[in-house]
Amino acid sequence: MHPQMFYSCHGAAKQVTGSCHLVRCGDYQVLIDCGMFQGSRAEERANSEPFGFDPRSVDALILTHAHLDHCGRIPRLVREGFQGPILATSATRDLARIVLLDAARLQEEDAARAERGSRRRNEPVAPPLCTLDDAFDALERFATAVGYGEPVNVVPGIEATFLDAGHILGSASVLLVLKNGQQQRTILFSGDLGSPGRPILRDPTPAPEADFVVMESTYGDRDHRSLPDSVSELYEAVDSTLKHGGNVVIPTFALERAQEVLYYLHQGLQQQRFAPRTPVFLDSPMAISATDVFRRHPECFDDEFAAALREGDPFTMPNLRFSRETSESMAINRIEGGAVIMAGSGMCNGGRIRHHLRHNLWRDRSSIVFVGYAAEGTLARRIVNGARRVAIFGEDIAVNAKIWTINGFSAHAGRNELLAWLGTHPRRKVFLVHGEYERGMRSLQDALAAKGIPTHLPGLYEPILLD
Ligand code: ZN
Repeated sequence: MHPQMFYSCHGAAKQVTGSCHLVRCGDYQVLIDCGMFQGSRAEERANSEPFGFDPRSVDALILTHAHLDHCGRIPRLVREGFQGPILATSATRDLARIVLLDAARLQEEDAARAERGSRRRNEPVAPPLCTLDDAFDALERFATAVGYGEPVNVVPGIEATFLDAGHILGSASVLLVLKNGQQQRTILFSGDLGSPGRPILRDPTPAPEADFVVMESTYGDRDHRSLPDSVSELYEAVDSTLKHGGNVVIPTFALERAQEVLYYLHQGLQQQRFAPRTPVFLDSPMAISATDVFRRHPECFDDEFAAALREGDPFTMPNLRFSRETSESMAINRIEGGAVIMAGSGMCNGGRIRHHLRHNLWRDRSSIVFVGYAAEGTLARRIVNGARRVAIFGEDIAVNAKIWTINGFSAHAGRNELLAWLGTHPRRKVFLVHGEYERGMRSLQDALAAKGIPTHLPGLYEPILLD
């Protein structure tokens, strides 16, 4: 019989971003995620490269979660002819709306800026990768939301079950059952996996039996610091800075990290870990919108958070202010001390955080508290690495503020958590994706080999027979 079940990787092959996976079963093709490549300009150029399949021939798309490196190429996929449904949880659908529209707006702005430059140099003008119209067209492809644990028919011969991934609100691992004639195979996509024991979300569902597993390996080489230690360090940073009369500036990712930090601050205030009337600003329209989405999706919460919710809104505090407008954001710049300011972007490469850094980095009473990942080449990384001066808006700013780097808040499972998630079921093969080749991926591969689990690191577009 002609073999009819294939898997191929079209992004996040031996790298961290651009997640995109194709499964073929009989006459049907299903895509799992269609994410954007993020990082250096060279890496981002991959976003305009061919997909490695014909978008018109894909029958359905399953989206594991709303991070841009998993959903960012969907508008392009739709523009190039994809006409099938997009299956996702209801929370992922709501967050993807925020993420895709925000990304489209930024790309239109970037393209307009580049166009002015190109015209001045008499060079051809490159269109934006994705326009707002493309993003709206993509959003129309989202079908009825899928609940956790309910098997759904995706196309004839492919059934999907979404499982908790504990990574961000609405995130899922997806188990596919493939049937073609007498042949049946199962393949599990981990999506991005969170750490067990984090607040708000339920823990990831351990990997069930499956012939094949496509697994993320971001932190395949290391474990994180314990969460309770990190939360205590956050309270210490806030309390000591406020006592010295400075501001606490927290560069924050808009999805999940912003809501987690709000929740920790809420709890810290209740436990009197810092001054009760401290003004707290969430200065990020995207994080504010995402917080509204959280409130609408109690079906994703763990028991502890659901209980906290019954006693009041765990995302609020007496002196919490949400600043959507630019004028509100600028008003915060006049506060010389005594406030907690959360703003994006988390890596400080853009967004309102740069204004707050400009006003606080030079103040020795203020603190900058990093609670997230800082990629190589970003302003956040330079500050974390101990730069004494940095350039912001072309201005040379001295770094006198105290810099805190708190490492235990990662949204990704650490090495031992990944191994525990995979468990001991026999597997025909485990495919490792979504990791740095020389670090997480190779190291996790060694760990799995030691347990006798066969692995493979798929190359980009490499067709793999699921036999
Ligand atoms: Zn993610």
